[in-house]
Amino acid sequence: MNERLPSKHVVLLGMGHTNAHVLRMYGMHGLEDTALTCISNFNVATYSGMLPAVLAGQVPREKMQIDLVQLCASVGARLITEPVTGLDPESRNILFQHRPPMEFDLLSIGTGSTSMQGELVVNGGSVVAIKPMQTFLERLQHTLTLLHEKQLSRPLRVVVAGSGAAGLEIAFCLPPFLDKNWGGDHEISIVTRSSRLLAAANAHTRKIAIRQLHQRKIEIITNFDVQSIQDEYLETPEGKRIDADLVIWSTGAGASDFLGQLQLATDEKGFLVTHPTLQSITTPHVFAVGDAGTISTSPTPKAGVYAVRQGPILWENIQRSLVDAPLVHYRPQRSFLQLLNTGDGKAIGQWKRFAMSNQWLMAWKKSIDSRFMEMFEPVRMEDDEDPMQCRGCGCKIGSGLLDSALSSAGTLDLDDAAVIAQTAEDRIIASTDFFTSPFEDPYLTGRIAALHAASDIVASGASAQHALSNIVLPEGDSAAQGRTLRELLAGAKREFDAMGAAIAGGHTIEGPRLEIGFTVIGKAIGKNLLEKKNLQTGDGLYLTKPIGIGVLLAARMRGRCAAHDHQHLINAMLDRQHEYAHHAIEAGISAGTDITGFGLAGHLLEMLEASQKSAVLTLNDIPTLPGSTEAVLRGIQSSLSPSNRMSAAKISTTADIRKEPQFDLLFDPQTCGGLLLGVSNDQLPTLQSLVGDRLLVRIGTVFDASDVEKSLIVN
Ligand SMILES: Cc1cc2nc3c(=O)[nH]c(=O)nc-3n(C[C@H](O)[C@H](O)[C@H](O)COP(=O)(O)OP(=O)(O)OC[C@H]3O[C@@H](n4cnc5c(N)ncnc54)[C@H](O)[C@@H]3O)c2cc1C
Repeated sequence: MNERLPSKHVVLLGMGHTNAHVLRMYGMHGLEDTALTCISNFNVATYSGMLPAVLAGQVPREKMQIDLVQLCASVGARLITEPVTGLDPESRNILFQHRPPMEFDLLSIGTGSTSMQGELVVNGGSVVAIKPMQTFLERLQHTLTLLHEKQLSRPLRVVVAGSGAAGLEIAFCLPPFLDKNWGGDHEISIVTRSSRLLAAANAHTRKIAIRQLHQRKIEIITNFDVQSIQDEYLETPEGKRIDADLVIWSTGAGASDFLGQLQLATDEKGFLVTHPTLQSITTPHVFAVGDAGTISTSPTPKAGVYAVRQGPILWENIQRSLVDAPLVHYRPQRSFLQLLNTGDGKAIGQWKRFAMSNQWLMAWKKSIDSRFMEMFEPVRMEDDEDPMQCRGCGCKIGSGLLDSALSSAGTLDLDDAAVIAQTAEDRIIASTDFFTSPFEDPYLTGRIAALHAASDIVASGASAQHALSNIVLPEGDSAAQGRTLRELLAGAKREFDAMGAAIAGGHTIEGPRLEIGFTVIGKAIGKNLLEKKNLQTGDGLYLTKPIGIGVLLAARMRGRCAAHDHQHLINAMLDRQHEYAHHAIEAGISAGTDITGFGLAGHLLEMLEASQKSAVLTLNDIPTLPGSTEAVLRGIQSSLSPSNRMSAAKISTTADIRKEPQFDLLFDPQTCGGLLLGVSNDQLPTLQSLVGDRLLVRIGTVFDASDVEKSLIVN
C-alpha cells in the first residue's frame, strides 16, 4: 500500500492526562490527513493517582505508567523525547536544542505543574521532590541509600513538606516503602505553611485525616514556612527549625519556568492563560490544558480530575480547529469525588460536604484507577502474528541470495566497503546502504540512516568524507514533503558532522514509502584498514555493542518493546563507532568488521572464511540488549533472522545451547550494530587505554582452521 504524507500536523507537548486522551482518540479514530507528534520529557507518563499506592506496595510500579513508546508506535504517532527549548508562536515552530525547529498546525501544551517553587534555599539537606514523578521512586531509593552511609543511631526523621491531598497521601503511604528500603525505625511528620492541613477539603475530611495521622503517629506541623533546607533541619525566615534527615517536597502546584519561555500569555502565577475553549488567549492555534493552563474566566484548583475532563473537549476542539469549525467550551465540574489513599487498605472519600473512610472506598479507588490506566494499554499484535517486514536491516535480502548474485556477476568481494582508488598515500573507500525506516520520526530516521550507511566505511577504519543521499519520499503536498525532507537531512547531517563528513549531494524521488540511504566516500587514515581477512590465530574476538537490535525493532513493530528497553535500543543504535575504529587502527589492529544485516554469526563466519581460520565463542559472554532475550522467548524475530539462521549449519555446539535465546540472537540482524575486532594480546592494552570505559567485550578466540565445514564453535 502506498503511504502518503499527511498535510497537517498536530503536536502534543507533555503527555499528561488531557493530551494522553487525544493520543488515545487518535489511535481509535485517527485525524484525516493529519500526523500526530507527541513530545515528552520521558518515554513513560506517570499517573499521579496511583503513585501513593505504588509507594505503599499495593500496586506494581508498571501499573502507574503509560508506556508512550508502545502507545505511540501502536497508533502511528511519532514520539520525541528531546527537550524543547522554546516556541515561535508566530511561525508555529517548536524549538529544540539539537534538532531543527518543528512546524505545527496545532499545538496542545500539557506539561503539568511543578512542586519545587519559590525562594527555597537547599543547602546540603536530602530533598526529594515529588516531580518529575517518573523518577521519584529511584530518587527516593537513592537518597535512602546515601543516608544509610550516615549510620544513624536514632530513627530516620522524614518530613513531608506540603499538606494538600498529595502530601497527605505520600505521608500515609510512605511507611511500607521505608520498611523495605530503609529497614530501621523512622518518624514521619507533615509540615505546612498554612494554619491547617488539607486547606481545600471539607471539615469532615480534615477531621478524619487528622485522626488517622495521630493514630499512625505522623506529626502535623502547621504555620511553618520552610525557607531553607539545611543538613539535618528545615528553617523558616524567622529562624524556627525542625529536624529532618529526609525531606519529601510535595507542596502545591506551581508553574514551571518552562511555560514562561514559550512566548504565550501567562497569569501572575506563570500558568498559560486560556479561553474556555482551552486556546491560549494570545495564540489560538495553541491549546494549554491540565495544570499548565488556567482558564481566565473560570480558574480551577490544579487537579488531575479537571485535566481528565478536559480530554474530550480538547479532542473535539482539535478536530474542529482542523476544519475551521466553531469550538466548544470546557465548563469545569463544580464538585468531584475525591478519594485519598491512606496506605492501610482504606481510603478517605469526600463528596461535596460529606466524608468517610473505609476499605470499600479504597477498592473503588483501585478499580477507577486501573480502569483509567487500561484505556492507555497499547494495541499489540499477537506474538505469532506475522508482522510487516520489521525494516531496518530487516529490509536486506539474505546473504545466500546476495553471494550467488554477486558471483554470477563475477564480483565477490567479501568486504562491505570497496577500496576504489589506491595510491601510495591515499586510499579512497566507498560504500552504500539504504533502508525503509522503522521509525515514525524523520529526524531520528536521518540519524540512523547516516550511521547505518557509514557503518562499512567506519568499520574499515577509514574516515568518512562525503555522502550522497538517495531518498524516496511518499506522496504528499509540497509543504509536508519539504518538512519531512528537512528533518531527514538535518538528522543525517548531525551524524555526518560528527564524523567530519559532508553531504555533498544526492537524489530524491517520490515513491510508495519513505526510504533513505547514502553512498559514503571515505579515506583511509593510516596504513592499515580493518579487513575481514586479517584474523590471526590467538586473536581475541571483541565486540563494541550489545546485540539484539533486530529483534527489538521487530518487537517494537508489534507494540511489544517496553519504553525502558526502547531507550537502550535507541542509545545503542546511536552509539557512534568511528572513533572506536580509529582507536583500533591506532592500536595496530587490522582485523575487523561491523555487525549488520547478517547478524553476529553471519559476519563472524565471513571473517573466518576470508581469514581461513576457526573461532570459539562463549555464548554467555556476548552482551545483549535488555529485553532482547525476552523478545526471542516470546517467539518474536526479525524478518531476516530465518535466512540468517541458515548459517547455523556451520556452527558446532550442543543441542542445549541451540535452545538458548542468546543462540538465536547470533542470527539477529543489526541496524547500526557494533564492531567485531580481532585483537592480539599485544594490541589489547593500547586499545583498552584508547577506548577508556566504552564497551569492549571479549566474546571468543580465533584458532587455526581445523574444520572447514564447522568453523565456529559456540560454548
Ligand atoms: C502524589 C500525587 C497524587 C495526586 N493525586 C491526585 C488525585 O487523586 N486526584 C487529582 O485530581 N489530582 C491528583 N494529583 C494532582 C494531579 O497529579 C495533577 O493535577 C495532574 O497530574 C495534572 O495533570 P496534567 O495532565 O496537567 O499534568 P501531568 O499529569 O503532571 O503530566 C504532565 C506531563 O508532561 C511532562 N512534562 C513536563 N514538562 C515537560 C516538558 N518541558 N517537555 C515535555 N514534557 C514535559 C511530564 O513528564 C508529564 O508526563 C496528585 C498529585 C500528586 C503529586
